[in-house]
Amino acid sequence: AAKAAGRNRVEVFTPDLRTAAEQRATLAGELLLAIERDELVLHYQPVMGLPSRRCTGVEALVRWQHPERGLLYPGDFLPTARQHDLMTPLARWVLREATRQTAAWRDAGLVLVTGVNINATHFTSGTLVDDVMGALADAGLDACQLVVELTETSVADDPERAAAQFAELRTRGVEVSIDDFGSGFSSIGQLVNMPAGVLKIDRSLVAFTEGRRRQTAAAIAAVVALGQACGIRSLAEGVETAEQLDLAESLGCSFAQGYHIARPMPAGELPSWIAAHPPATIPVALV
Ligand code: C2E
Ligand code: MG
Ligand code: MG
Ligand code: MG
Repeated sequence: AAKAAGRNRVEVFTPDLRTAAEQRATLAGELLLAIERDELVLHYQPVMGLPSRRCTGVEALVRWQHPERGLLYPGDFLPTARQHDLMTPLARWVLREATRQTAAWRDAGLVLVTGVNINATHFTSGTLVDDVMGALADAGLDACQLVVELTETSVADDPERAAAQFAELRTRGVEVSIDDFGSGFSSIGQLVNMPAGVLKIDRSLVAFTEGRRRQTAAAIAAVVALGQACGIRSLAEGVETAEQLDLAESLGCSFAQGYHIARPMPAGELPSWIAAHPPATIPVALV
């Protein structure tokens, strides 16, 4: 019976399953090569300051220019990267490229704050602060032009370690934001004790459907108030309409980001986008 079971177990590896596993392994191998060969690209989505409506920065979002499959989005390859421990090598590439580009824009007279997404495993690996500071030093970029984004759920996984690394990064001048805030079931008490600079209010809280404006406003106002009490500024993510932008502004969000403002774009398109979207006239009283 044991022999039969053993044989059965062997038979679990049917050709179909092996193909699926092989496909994943192939993608992971390709991704590793892609990182080395610079087949990855960053697109940048403008972040708008409120109420100035001036572009204050960008978020760097990774894409993979796959030789056969075309442009792949994070949802297409980050799960594989996670399974194969490639998130930290990927993040190192992203940090280097984002800091290099931000320094190049600065040299051209365009001073922006760039946000980079970091995965939970990188936080727990203990190399994050060194990787961030190394990238800044090599690019010749000031720490105040970089923001590290960590999702709410990653923070909640190991709040003490996250708090320690947040504090360390901020001591060195790198701002930290909590991404996708309000999307998970994390303890709010834990999150507000984080030494973070920005709460990025998740798209699911910001996007409202017809007739839900009052509830959306209450949720955003609650996050903004919570942040204000803790000295943390808020950013509305996923702003898709003028009405949502007005709402975020009137409720005291310090920043907004979303398709209504701009979609993520290649680095080369950003300067002309900014030139074509001058900030709203700032009221004289504020100047
Ligand atoms: P995220 O950090 O929350 O980034 C925002 C995502 O929402 C981006 O998707 C962006 O294109 C999309 N988005 C922005 N505005 C709108 C809007 O108005 N409506 C809608 N429907 N979507 C909007 P993207 O680029 O596909 O990235 C998805 C996620 O992948 C990111 O979510 C982030 O968690 C992760 N990611 C992206 N780049 C990196 C990276 O370099 N490293 C790591 N570790 N994760 C990354
Ligand atoms: Mg993000
Ligand atoms: Mg986000
Ligand atoms: Mg998100």
